[in-house]
Amino acid sequence: MAHLWLSVEDQRAVFPLEGAAFSLSAHPPRRIPAPPCKEALGGVALLRVEKPDGAVWVIVAGTDQTVHVNEFPLALGIRVLSDRDRIWVSNVGAFFFSTETLATVEPFPGAEQKIFCPRCKLEIEEGCTSVKCPQCSRWHHQSEEMKCWTYTRHCALCPQPTDLDTGYRWMPEESVM
Ligand SMILES: [Zn+2]
Ligand SMILES: [Zn+2]
Repeated sequence: MAHLWLSVEDQRAVFPLEGAAFSLSAHPPRRIPAPPCKEALGGVALLRVEKPDGAVWVIVAGTDQTVHVNEFPLALGIRVLSDRDRIWVSNVGAFFFSTETLATVEPFPGAEQKIFCPRCKLEIEEGCTSVKCPQCSRWHHQSEEMKCWTYTRHCALCPQPTDLDTGYRWMPEESVM
């Protein structure tokens, strides 16, 4: 799930973007009703836009607050966010947008084609508990009988650590928060 990094009492904290719309006119951000709503149009809002290949997040700014994304003013009042974008809102502060996800054990949702586990080479069946690698996006079995994800310290295909308690690989520098 995409999230924001923000500064709370001089500590970096994660704010999960669990919802479809958030107001950045306040710190910490606030979940708001999905647009069109007054909050989204008047202030600074993050809106989730569903696309066929996944959701994107768009920042929309009304006229009353100055917004910069990566030091550039939001000239047109709207922009699609990219991983690690720095958002700055006047009178509110800075946020960092991150699309990084954590490895979680969940039922494999199924796919149009057969998917094979890169560790054991066997098919992963729909509903079988598995882990999608946050880095290379490949699914691995992870059940009582088949602990393919945690079998070694790294993903079968990339350097992603398989410890299920591992935190985020990226976080903003403290000095720029
Ligand atoms: Zn496997
Ligand atoms: Zn991987």
